[in-house]
Amino acid sequence: MYAPDGVKTSRDYAIPDTMKAWVLGDPGELSLREKPVPVPKKAEVLVRIDAVAICATDLEIIYHGPPALIRGGIPHNKNFTPGHEYMGTVVALGPAVDEYRIGQRVTVEIHAGCGQCKRCREGMYTACHNYGLNYGDVDKGHRANGFTTDGGFCEYQVNNINTLVAIPDAMSDEEATLVVTAGTAMYGLTELGGLVAGESVVVTGPGPIGLLGVAVAKALGAQPVILTGTRDNRLKIGRELGADHVVNVTKENAVDAVRRLNGDKGLDYVLECSGAPNAVNEAVRMVNRGGKICLAAFPHQETPVDIAEIVRNNIYVYGIRGEGKSATHRAEAFMSQKRFDATKIHTHTFPLDDLPTAIRYAKDRVEDAIKVVVKARGVSAAHKVAAE
Ligand SMILES: [Zn+2]
Ligand SMILES: [Zn+2]
Repeated sequence: MYAPDGVKTSRDYAIPDTMKAWVLGDPGELSLREKPVPVPKKAEVLVRIDAVAICATDLEIIYHGPPALIRGGIPHNKNFTPGHEYMGTVVALGPAVDEYRIGQRVTVEIHAGCGQCKRCREGMYTACHNYGLNYGDVDKGHRANGFTTDGGFCEYQVNNINTLVAIPDAMSDEEATLVVTAGTAMYGLTELGGLVAGESVVVTGPGPIGLLGVAVAKALGAQPVILTGTRDNRLKIGRELGADHVVNVTKENAVDAVRRLNGDKGLDYVLECSGAPNAVNEAVRMVNRGGKICLAAFPHQETPVDIAEIVRNNIYVYGIRGEGKSATHRAEAFMSQKRFDATKIHTHTFPLDDLPTAIRYAKDRVEDAIKVVVKARGVSAAHKVAAE
């Protein structure tokens, strides 16, 4: 049985020595293997993974590689387990850990910075200068679950205590996997200045971050919040999450519609979540002079940008990575206070053993899938569960 030196365990949570883990082979190829259950070190706990959501970035990593960085290179054929939007139960404590207790339910954010570089010291641990330097002689202690270290498509994972967010019993496993997505939206709004009450916000792109961006902006008091996108079913969910107006950009010009909906004044903030090639130029024309644009998605090719328009109008453009500055904790606070219902974006649940099917649903948007969750237990192997 699992009983590593210096690690505290409990009889209530028996831990095996090995576990099921999905491992990335060639691009797009995952196989289910046995791996040793990892051992928490100082400032780390072992989390039994109860649910993990699939993110568009997982698909990027599985099919293309970046932004994952394993032992200095692409993640393929390195016995690497992807998956980063997971939650679970603390089942073992590393040496001297007393911040969490065994049996506590937690959700996890992705990045544990090295804690010693300039950006980590500023609280920008998702922009750690030692990103991916966590192996062999160059080990700086940086970890990013499912990006630079093993992630959550398995049964157990170690996590730095700084990446844990305690969740209430009333929050379901599925909802808890969405905290980090809401946290990313929260981080974007934080970087835009954070003073959102009474300000006008447009969110472009109703993917998971965009939809929860609407919810977080509204919870922060933004007025009006406008959501643009191409799919009516997702725009409808955006409405339910608090958008004052939605714009289907296949039916009307996005810039004209957004400006009209705010009295032709232009908006204070744009949270860009579409990654569309024309998104930045459109955002520049949606904001008012001195307005701010946060880029939370990226196009796959280089795209020309109208720099002159940005300079002439004193427009600020920010890129964000992940969910820094404890934004995840603030997002969780909104969710546990039921300020919005993130589960509206959860559409399907599959057993962990069916991960390839779950990935196909997420990738091909089968049955209008938005957030697809896999669970190691409690879901029948033969049947997917459609939420609601
Ligand atoms: Zn993600
Ligand atoms: Zn760092």
